[in-house]
Amino acid sequence: MKIAKVESFLVQLPYTTGGAGKWGNLDWTTLDYVMIRIETESGLVGWGDGFGYGSARATKAAVDYMIGPTLIGRDASNIAGINHDLQQENHIWGRYGVTMFAISGVDIALWDIAGKAAGLPLSSLLGGARRTEIPAYASLFKYNNPDEVTENCQRAIGDGFNYIKLHEIAEPEVRAARLAIGDGVPLMVDTNCPWTPYQAREKALSFKPYELHWLEEPIFPPEDFNSLARLGLEVDIPLAAGENACTAFEFQNMMEAGAVTYVQPSVTKVGGITEFRKIITLAELHGTTVMPHAPYFAPGLLATLHLLSTMPDECLAESFFYKTIDATLYGDAISAKDGSIKVPTGPGLGLEPDLDVIKDFGAKD
Ligand SMILES: [Mg+2]
Repeated sequence: MKIAKVESFLVQLPYTTGGAGKWGNLDWTTLDYVMIRIETESGLVGWGDGFGYGSARATKAAVDYMIGPTLIGRDASNIAGINHDLQQENHIWGRYGVTMFAISGVDIALWDIAGKAAGLPLSSLLGGARRTEIPAYASLFKYNNPDEVTENCQRAIGDGFNYIKLHEIAEPEVRAARLAIGDGVPLMVDTNCPWTPYQAREKALSFKPYELHWLEEPIFPPEDFNSLARLGLEVDIPLAAGENACTAFEFQNMMEAGAVTYVQPSVTKVGGITEFRKIITLAELHGTTVMPHAPYFAPGLLATLHLLSTMPDECLAESFFYKTIDATLYGDAISAKDGSIKVPTGPGLGLEPDLDVIKDFGAKD
C-alpha cells in the first residue's frame, strides 16, 4: 500500500459571523482550510486537513514542500512510523506550528486510508465506538458586544444546543450570555490567552457569579502550566487549555502540573490522530477529562467525532456556530441537530468531501 501522490488544496468557504465584531487580524469572510489528499498506488484515497485559518497558506506550503514529497513510496499503513519519522526529520523547524499542522493533516489522511483498507470506520480501528452521537456545544464568534452575544446565545438555544461557549473577555458579555440562556445551561468562556496570572485572577473572579462550566486559556503564555494550576485553585473555577499544546509530551507536562480540569488537544494541530490517542490514554491515567478543540468543518472534525466516540467519558464536541453561505464539505452531515452530532459510520473518516466544493471554493491565487 505505497503512497503514490500527496496533494493539498486551499479551500475558502464563505462565511458570516452573525455579528459586526472583528476578531484579530482576519476579516472572517471565509473559513480557510488546507485539505490534504493522499492516494496509494492501489487507488485508495484518504483525506486530512492541517490547521488553517490565518496559517492556511503557510500550512499548505509545509505540506507541499517540506512533508509531502518525503512520503512518496512509503507504506501508507505504517502510520505510527511515518508520524514518528516526520516529527524527527522536521523537529529543527519547530515542534509546534505549521510543521506540526502539516504532519497532523497527513496523519489524519493516513488513518482515513487505513479505515478504508479495512472496510471499517476509524472508531473501530481505535478500539470501538461507545456512542453513536456526540453532544456538542455552540462555540460562538467573538462579538465584543453584549447585545450580539444575547442575540446569538438565543439563536443557539433555539437551534437546540444545550451548552454554550463564548469567546469573550469582558464581564458584560458574560453576564449577557448568562441572562440570555438562564441558569440551567452550562456556559463556558474561552478567552484565548489575554492575561497575566494576576489579571487572570481578577477577571476570573469577576466571572464567578455566572457559574462557568469552564474558563478556557486565561493566561499568556499558554504553556505557563504552573500559573494555570495556581489560578484554578485560587478561583475555584474549572480551567481548560490545550489547543496550543503539541504532542503528548507537552500534555504530560500539563497534566503533571495539574494545570487544568479539561485538556483540549486539537487533532489538526497536535500531531494528528496518532498523538491525540496517546493524550486520551494520558488523560485516563491522570484522571483528566478530554474536551477537544475542534472549531472545524473539514476532516479534522470527523476525526474528532470518532476519537470522542471511543472515550470513557461522554465529552463534548465543539460546533463553531455560524452560518456558512453556499457550501459545506459534507452537506449537513456534521451539523449539530438537537444538540448532538452523529458519528459517521462509513469506512475511514466515514464521509467523503464534496469535490465540487473543493473546486468551486479553491483559492484562486
Ligand atoms: Mg479555545
